[in-house]
Amino acid sequence: PPNSTPTSRLVERRQATMGPTSVLFYEKPLHVVSAEGVWLQTADGARYLDVYNNVPSVGHCNPRVVKAIADQAAQLNIHTRYLYDVVHTYAERLLATFGAPLDKVAFCCTGSEANDLALRIATAATGKRGFVVTEAAYHGNTAAVTDVSPSSRPGKPLAPHIRAVPAPIGAGLEAFASNVEAAIADLERSEFGFAGLIVDTIFSSDGVAADPAGFLKDAVEATHRAGGLFIADEVQPGFGRTGAAMWGFVRHGVAPDVVTMGKPMGNGMPIAGVVSSAPLLKAFADSTGYFNTFGGNPVTTAAALAVLDEIEERGLVANAADVGGHLLARLRGLTNRRGQIGEVRGAGLYLGVDFVRDGAPAPETATRVINALRERKILIGAAGLYGNVLKIRPPLVFERAHADMLVDALDEVLAEG
Ligand code: PMP
Repeated sequence: PPNSTPTSRLVERRQATMGPTSVLFYEKPLHVVSAEGVWLQTADGARYLDVYNNVPSVGHCNPRVVKAIADQAAQLNIHTRYLYDVVHTYAERLLATFGAPLDKVAFCCTGSEANDLALRIATAATGKRGFVVTEAAYHGNTAAVTDVSPSSRPGKPLAPHIRAVPAPIGAGLEAFASNVEAAIADLERSEFGFAGLIVDTIFSSDGVAADPAGFLKDAVEATHRAGGLFIADEVQPGFGRTGAAMWGFVRHGVAPDVVTMGKPMGNGMPIAGVVSSAPLLKAFADSTGYFNTFGGNPVTTAAALAVLDEIEERGLVANAADVGGHLLARLRGLTNRRGQIGEVRGAGLYLGVDFVRDGAPAPETATRVINALRERKILIGAAGLYGNVLKIRPPLVFERAHADMLVDALDEVLAEG
């Protein structure tokens, strides 16, 4: 039977065919065969609690999403230049979660494409090319988006039209707006000018930054004063994860000009989007054409519609607030035996545990904890400029009992090391 294939043989086949760009987790990668809710099943019959995957946010193999995909695939799936009902229904439902003037959406397939489009919209609107980002940001993998993703260029200088500011964590929090202002001024003195500020509103790859809610306000005001656009990358915090609202920027009381989204949008179907206002999209469309063969096709939009139904009908935003609040309180209550925990941060079901040793970032603790939790059948990852922040980002159907399993296991693991 296929499930008895040794893991090492699968790794060999993967390396033989896909080579160096094929990224795998763990020294002994997991061979997964099925999943349900917050659980992943491996070929050896074990079951893992998923605290890592935000894409299947309404639960792995969510029955409503599975049925929507199957039904739509059996009826019609086609490129996006025809009229078909589901995309319009979805666009209306999605846009209803935004306020004016965010009343238009363009669909694409990945968060990277969405951010690429957002950068182009900002450049078309302002006639400028310079962007301000955070130091360990990740916004995707196209050539243009890699330029605004310093975490993808470790040790390399930034592209000349990019300025990076420290994330709003620790000393970077107080200085965030003034750092953004200085970066804007520097770009305005350059040949590139200032087109916009792009941030992930939960700062996931920077190591998670959520509080105090509202800290983005001054930076966004400075952006607008300088004539730039504020692009809110909601790929990570969007679709209810912060427990406060559908969109992470809402916690900060700011008004983005462009919002990008992806990952959980189709619970695993490749659908992503850019929401903006009619004038901004017109400025872009007037300067260049845009077509996306698969972006918003019938099957992916049917999945996305089922995701919205699940979020709304099952109260998953409130669940993120409730379970996330419980988890945050329990994490903050952990006995910090050797002072390994510097800070616990986050909102809803996006939390970060910042590991330190003698006041300095401790990525080795994060790595040890990740591997020890894997032995206890819990899947989790790390983030941050130094890779020392445990990244807690489970499917939104996570329950208090799951949160307790995680914290109890983490407590044991920290007691050992
Ligand atoms: N923005 C953020 C904040 C992300 O975390 C990611 C993916 N990790 C992306 C954009 C890119 O999305 P995708 O991988 O779908 O291109």
